[in-house]
Amino acid sequence: MTDLAETPRARTRPDWSSIDSALTAGLRWTFETDQTASAIMHHHGAHLHVPAENRTLRFIPIGAEGRVVVVLEVATVVPAPSPHLSPTNPLRDGELEQLHDLLQERGFSVADSWNGHPYVTGSVALDRPAHPGLIASVLRYQQGCQTHDQSVFCTCGWYTTGYADVALPEAL
Ligand SMILES: [Zn+2]
Repeated sequence: MTDLAETPRARTRPDWSSIDSALTAGLRWTFETDQTASAIMHHHGAHLHVPAENRTLRFIPIGAEGRVVVVLEVATVVPAPSPHLSPTNPLRDGELEQLHDLLQERGFSVADSWNGHPYVTGSVALDRPAHPGLIASVLRYQQGCQTHDQSVFCTCGWYTTGYADVALPEAL
């Protein structure tokens, strides 16, 4: 992606033990966690890593059609030997549907869904809008540096400062 300023690395995030716990933490972050007026959150959303399952869950506050999008990804993709191009460890058959079930059990209705097996990512769009504070923090990112050139690439530190104020998903 070329439209994303470099995300500061200073803040370490916890790993999650299961998809279930990562999903709970990510949904709590997306829908229930307010952000301060100085927080600046990039639009690619929060990545929650589940190393034990080689998966990452990503929560995008403003995704396709303005909806919250939850992305399930294979964290480390193993390519097949050439000349085959398909990875050897895609999402399992039915794995994205399992995520639908987990979301519906938590009261979220699935508005749309893409990919899944045999691909290495699958996405789910939800009907419920993200917390207004989170939406505002993403809009501040998209507006770029307001002190200088309105670019997300401004190097004055506006984004580093704002990102430090983001309340990230927390381990339960
Ligand atoms: Zn600036």
